[in-house]
Amino acid sequence: MRKIALIYTGGTIGMRQNEKGKLAPMDFESAVEKIPALGLLPIEIQTVSLKKVIDSSEMMPQVWKELAEVVDKLMPEVDGIVILHGTDTMAYTACALSFMLQGLRKPIIITGSQLPIGVLRTDAVENIVSAFEFAALADKNGDSVIQEVAIYFEYELLRGNRAYKRSSNEFNAFSSPNFPPLASSGVRLSVNKELLWRSKESYCLDTRLSNNIGVVTLYPGLDFSELPALTNWKVLLLRTFGAGNAPKSDDFLNFLKRVEKNGTIIVNTSQCVSGSVIPGLYDSSSALEEVKMLNARDMTFESALVKSMVLLGRGHSPLDFYEKFSLSLSGEVSE
Ligand code: ASP
Repeated sequence: MRKIALIYTGGTIGMRQNEKGKLAPMDFESAVEKIPALGLLPIEIQTVSLKKVIDSSEMMPQVWKELAEVVDKLMPEVDGIVILHGTDTMAYTACALSFMLQGLRKPIIITGSQLPIGVLRTDAVENIVSAFEFAALADKNGDSVIQEVAIYFEYELLRGNRAYKRSSNEFNAFSSPNFPPLASSGVRLSVNKELLWRSKESYCLDTRLSNNIGVVTLYPGLDFSELPALTNWKVLLLRTFGAGNAPKSDDFLNFLKRVEKNGTIIVNTSQCVSGSVIPGLYDSSSALEEVKMLNARDMTFESALVKSMVLLGRGHSPLDFYEKFSLSLSGEVSE
């Protein structure tokens, strides 16, 4: 029988109304008791809870570290891991785990739900049951079919570092516009084997992270002359328009020069969720060519942000940062 660990971090899936009538995470035991379907699975389940269960909008890098350490400890004992997580920052956590745990040979499937487990029309049961089934999938040699961090939601298994939360009210809450689903669940589970990530690295855990990151979202009317270039930004993610486009303006160019002068690495990441950054396409964006700039290509914003945190945390020189950021570390960017 496959042995799968279940880690509960909080989120709507395990919430109920508190005395103020607001949804708040309940303790782990009560959450698990509400999932009788778990007892019917032909899987041995080992349950673990984080020190403090949270609404995932309270997620912090130190919780990612705790989670990665819990996963690392469980890895030798189990065939796979299912993590129950709030949907708000699930995509960020999937990115963090995919970069902190390199060389995975077993699945980490993250799931949650839009309605709490105890509610009549909840989506939690299907999500949890299918997440377990994908976590337990093995080939004829007994090796795990999925060997990466994935998000399971509403009949689809998505690469975690390619996904983002697209809806706060539809059951189909996640999407991976630049990478097809790894698998889907209908009457049978169907896996797109050629899309699965296979790491060449040996397994290792590295939880170092830095959050000296700035984010600036371009919008029509943004006054760059007033925009400070903070000295604690080691990386600035510039959320550009469309295919990585920006306005032609002296104030914008001066802002970029001020940022560059601080030694900050600038990353061009588009506000579009689908498609890629293509530098030099439009004349109006010529200011972007006046400074050294990294191209996030078709990475999600979540992935570009967390990858920057991880690479900064590892203390890479700017030159190494440029090189590593451009590589696909865990399948987060098209080569
Ligand atoms: N606020 C909740 C959370 O992220 C939303 C959810 O789980 O769907 O924890």
